Amino acid sequence: MSFKPKIEEKRWDKNLEPVIFRRWQKEKLYAFDKRSKKPLYSIDTPPPYVDAPVHIGQAYTYVWMDIMGRSRRMMGFHVLFPMGLDKNGLPIEVQTEKQFGIVMRETPRRKFIQKCKELLEMYGDASLDTFKELGLSCNSWKLEYKIGGRYETDDPEYRRLTQETFIDLWNKRLVYEDMKPTNYCPACGTALSDAEIEYVEEDVVLNYITFSVKETREKIVIATTRPELLCSCKAVLFNPDDERYTHLEGKHAIVPMFGQEVRIISHPYAKMEFGSGLVMICSFGDRDDVRLLRELKVEPTYAIDINGKMNENAGVYTGLTVSEARRKITEDLKDRGSVVKQEIIHQKKPVCWRSKDPIEFVPLKEFYLMQLDFKEEMLKMADEMEFFAPESKRILVDWINSLSADWVLSRRRYYGTEIPLWYCKKCGFTYVPEPGKYYQPWREAPPIKTCPKCGCKDFLGEERTFDTWFDSCSSEVYITGYLWDKIYFKKHFPCYVRPQGKEIVRNWLYFTMLKSHLLYERKPFKQVWINMHILDDEGRKMSKSLGNVIDPKDMVEKFGAEAFRIWSCLEGDIARKDIRCSFERIEGTSKFLTKLWNVSRFISAFPLCEKAGLTATDEWILGELSSLIEIVRKDYLEYRFNDAAVSVREFVWNLFAPHYVEMVKSRAYGRGFSESEQKAAWFTLHACLRVVLKLLAPITPFITDHLWLKIYCKTSIHKEPFPEARWETGITRLTGKLTEFNSVVWNRKKEKGISLRESIKIKIPEELIPFEKDMVAMHKIQNGTRF
Ligand SMILES: [Zn+2]
Ligand SMILES: [Zn+2]
Repeated sequence: MSFKPKIEEKRWDKNLEPVIFRRWQKEKLYAFDKRSKKPLYSIDTPPPYVDAPVHIGQAYTYVWMDIMGRSRRMMGFHVLFPMGLDKNGLPIEVQTEKQFGIVMRETPRRKFIQKCKELLEMYGDASLDTFKELGLSCNSWKLEYKIGGRYETDDPEYRRLTQETFIDLWNKRLVYEDMKPTNYCPACGTALSDAEIEYVEEDVVLNYITFSVKETREKIVIATTRPELLCSCKAVLFNPDDERYTHLEGKHAIVPMFGQEVRIISHPYAKMEFGSGLVMICSFGDRDDVRLLRELKVEPTYAIDINGKMNENAGVYTGLTVSEARRKITEDLKDRGSVVKQEIIHQKKPVCWRSKDPIEFVPLKEFYLMQLDFKEEMLKMADEMEFFAPESKRILVDWINSLSADWVLSRRRYYGTEIPLWYCKKCGFTYVPEPGKYYQPWREAPPIKTCPKCGCKDFLGEERTFDTWFDSCSSEVYITGYLWDKIYFKKHFPCYVRPQGKEIVRNWLYFTMLKSHLLYERKPFKQVWINMHILDDEGRKMSKSLGNVIDPKDMVEKFGAEAFRIWSCLEGDIARKDIRCSFERIEGTSKFLTKLWNVSRFISAFPLCEKAGLTATDEWILGELSSLIEIVRKDYLEYRFNDAAVSVREFVWNLFAPHYVEMVKSRAYGRGFSESEQKAAWFTLHACLRVVLKLLAPITPFITDHLWLKIYCKTSIHKEPFPEARWETGITRLTGKLTEFNSVVWNRKKEKGISLRESIKIKIPEELIPFEKDMVAMHKIQNGTRF
């Protein structure tokens, strides 16, 4: 009998990947079926941004999401794995301005939106190509308004959903409009939520400025980094324990340059060790000022307008930008001899997360969603969801505890979901439309003809849009079919898992929870999976300026998707730590694919056969296989794909190939064994390979499917159920002894300087007698065994 491998090629060819991917698409292998009776496993994937190529961190985390989907599919779930594309908001507007050399505020709205669409048309969906190359098992790559379809966040349907949720919240009286100092980015021209603020550290000048006390005529010194706000100074504070100033309680300070008289008050907010111990409270330098003036019941005087310039309250500085005004007033104060000292201090400054411009506090009439009243509920909800890794829940809990303002929902931008409201021009009545349609109040008449209050026919459409997070935080509702099938939605909500990055816990995850609580009084997810980041080989963040960015496209071209996929699991667990990435690491780790290929090719030479009378050696490896299945199943369920991959590699590379395969080689070829013994080896080799391929199928879907089809079956491995642990594991207690003995023999031969094929005299330990025949054949042990 000749043994010719069914796998002819000597090695895995990465060029097969696109061919296999196309076959999957043709067979609709991962299509979504709403009528499926299986339990639903829904993944609320983060839609990548349309304008940027997929970066290595996304490539890594989407592969992990794919493994979530693939492993659950094998475990009997119907998997909802949609692909979205984020096309909303500021980044599109900014890019449009750059691309066409226009300015949003100087361009008619219709035209500007048209230009945004042109830009989006140019981008197309090319950024999804990398995801296809990586072999993601998304339900569909086509834009379709249905469950499982690909979606885009600027779809009229998606926007309709955002508006519906707003209308619900409005009707529940959870939205209010208020004029209050709001985080404002002058560069972006819009209000920002706390979640959109970042902090940067920088050196700033601390100016020691003299004020005079009205009642005593004495000079006092106040240290400030923001002298341009002197015109809005409303109070001077000193610490109650600061004996230098207790005599000033209730007296008044006269502000230099502007001459207003402000109260001097003792308050613990003033730190004795900072500056001179006296602090001026302006409207507004920061959030503390907002809080303190409210507490002191002092009416603010605003100094900065929404263009980031000083307003008429700033006297001669009116019209200057904040930084110009700071420079100018510092000079003027110096000229008057009012600056007694300057020092450089290190400070944390709030900036806009998009444009990195400094945040100002500007009074704006905006819509707010209540959130401060629901902190307890949010913390409780966090406890109701399972976190992977468990410690990442801390990021969320800390954020919830730190909240200090309601969520400002409205934005003064164009390319976003419109706030669906109209106002009666005569009596000011606010009209909220019925849900069920996408509304654009800035360009459409309201659905009613006359004002129900005064009968007036004239309405003014709301012009503002929503914070884009208000759209994003309904993704789990959108994908589970809320718009199209309320019964399905009710049955399948909450969504199963939300995978996402740690950096968007405070907005995407938190806002989704908030909205879910306010609208449905339910947690949005059963599970939350939080990923850390990808760093370069030296542990540095990847950035263009450092020149250490790895483009997933290059990586796939060089090594293939499969190499990247197996590396992404073997390298580490991104839910627990940052991952270091380099071409060398990927190349090195992917050698396992070659090992898998070689083992498969060897086994493919032997016929498939029904179970024959197994020997102890066969029972032993099948016992090990059973343990492996159980371990890997658990790893998959708990998203420990690193552990799963390492366990399978260990089994193949360090147990199955060197020990079992070597022990049964002679038997499989029929040299000196009975036909039944030979068949037992064939059976066991194939049983192990089948299981190994299935266990790896979620991680390396291309190579396993290829091998599967060549060796076993005409239908894809991705239709197979997860393997069952069917064999007794008792005999695996001998694994240590067995592998140790084999090593002893190999070493002995090495010491003697003889090849592994040569015979040797050695004693087989008593416990290993059941394996005697295979061991004798493997090591060519002479003269029988026991002596
Ligand atoms: Zn900005
Ligand atoms: Zn009216």
